[in-house]
Amino acid sequence: MEILRTVAELREWSRQERNDGGNTIGLVPTMGALHAGHASLIRAAVNSAGFVAVSIFVNPTQFGPNEDFARYPRTFDADCALAKLEGADVVFAPAVEELYPPGAATFVDVEGLGSRLDGKSRPGHFRGVATVVFKLMIAAEPDRAFFGQKDAAQVAVLRRMVADLRLATEIVVCPIVREADGLALSSRNVYLSAEERGKALTLSRAIRSAEALFASGERIAARFIDSAQIAFAAQPEIRVDYIAMVDWATLEPVEVAAPGSLFAVAAWVGATRLIDNTILA
Ligand code: AMP
Repeated sequence: MEILRTVAELREWSRQERNDGGNTIGLVPTMGALHAGHASLIRAAVNSAGFVAVSIFVNPTQFGPNEDFARYPRTFDADCALAKLEGADVVFAPAVEELYPPGAATFVDVEGLGSRLDGKSRPGHFRGVATVVFKLMIAAEPDRAFFGQKDAAQVAVLRRMVADLRLATEIVVCPIVREADGLALSSRNVYLSAEERGKALTLSRAIRSAEALFASGERIAARFIDSAQIAFAAQPEIRVDYIAMVDWATLEPVEVAAPGSLFAVAAWVGATRLIDNTILA
């Protein structure tokens, strides 16, 4: 497995592999600190594309000024070992100045969608995400790029971007990988104390309750939100950021849930912001 550091190298690799016999290229964008959720994305990519690049880049522009950019976990050697084990062909790990040359002034802003859900509580977050994913896409020129449903709002923003810019990359969404007790895997889970780790289960429980409510025939969005609010109210140490029932394509609230609606929660457990969601079916 090769480690590439520059956009030019990644582009050359992609073009060469594609031209050698019409191979397809898969891209798995990550910020590193890889866990089983990332591994599932890499596996999906390896199973569907001839050649796979995993990018590892802690993207400064998607962090707010008071967020955890500096202390975000960085485990590069272990990440490379995992990527290799899962069958990736290339790890793309650029320096910040490679993706943001001095004076960089070009950003991708997905209006509307980009300021809903996480984009509302983290202003500029999705602008940073869309910008870096666009840069990765025009560098790797992948046929398919793999993302986790864990970040469902991010998926909506990126689908809009790909459609609007008519990019030739298909977005593939992979299911949320969870711990045995339900907690969605996240690189940020390492921030949780043992006590917080227990309280963090409130999110996945709220998601499971919403799924059960939907299965029981409930369709009034407000009832899902009320029910989750009650569950969170029993945990005063958790500060809810949002509880929302939205259309997954537009991220606009819906009053009546339907198959395909996105029910999503975000909450602060101590100093750690966690998210979870379900696509109702
Ligand atoms: P990150 O490194 O946090 O930027 O995540 C990189 C990719 O992995 C994103 O597409 C995430 O949605 C995905 N991902 C993160 N956690 C999970 C999980 N628990 N299950 C599935 N995919 C995940």
